[in-house]
Amino acid sequence: MENFVRMFMLLAEVAVDVIRKFLEDKIQPDNFETFLQQHRHKIYHLCYNRGRCCSCGLSPTFPTQAVIRKAQLDILFVQQPGVNCSSNSRFCCCSYIATPNIQLNTIDITLCFAIINNFITLNQQQNDCLNDIRIVRNDISHFAHQHDIDSAEFYRMWGKVTNASIHLAAYTNHTYSADILDKIERLRTRPILAVEYTKSLHEIVKWINKDEEVRIHVYF
Ligand SMILES: [Zn+2]
Ligand SMILES: [Zn+2]
Repeated sequence: MENFVRMFMLLAEVAVDVIRKFLEDKIQPDNFETFLQQHRHKIYHLCYNRGRCCSCGLSPTFPTQAVIRKAQLDILFVQQPGVNCSSNSRFCCCSYIATPNIQLNTIDITLCFAIINNFITLNQQQNDCLNDIRIVRNDISHFAHQHDIDSAEFYRMWGKVTNASIHLAAYTNHTYSADILDKIERLRTRPILAVEYTKSLHEIVKWINKDEEVRIHVYF
């Protein structure tokens, strides 16, 4: 499973950092907490998309699919007890506040994707890079049910994620992009420690469970 673990680490340790940094730059001058607070109503409906809430206008529109899970919403926001919601809607959004001091490095790659998709305007190259990373991330999650990745497949995926990561990182700046390339090269050639091996396999099981939960779950 060595190719598999290395590929997982590329996504979970390097690519995810690039994506977080990209998002951080895009929401400037807001920090993540103020960004969340400012967009809480829309983010709330990315999870609860089945009806109007206390903060909805006259003709609200909802996403056709719930794109974030309740567990993810609970990472981004905390519910304030004792809020006197003036509406009698079934759903209350006004009791949610952005998690105090929340940092981007506490959110995982799927949640980053969900936020970027819904709030950030991308150019074609940015869109392609993020898509490439997303596709490989999903492939990896499927491969986990099987054996290791063969070396042809490994190099194809590795190349895709490397390219996408250094291009995205270049939007931050070229020094950062060069650092990312260094990191990727080190990860490609260095031995994987036993503890990293175990941790990666453990994490990937979580990915699979979350993916399946998203497929089968409908939120009310
Ligand atoms: Zn609403
Ligand atoms: Zn309310």
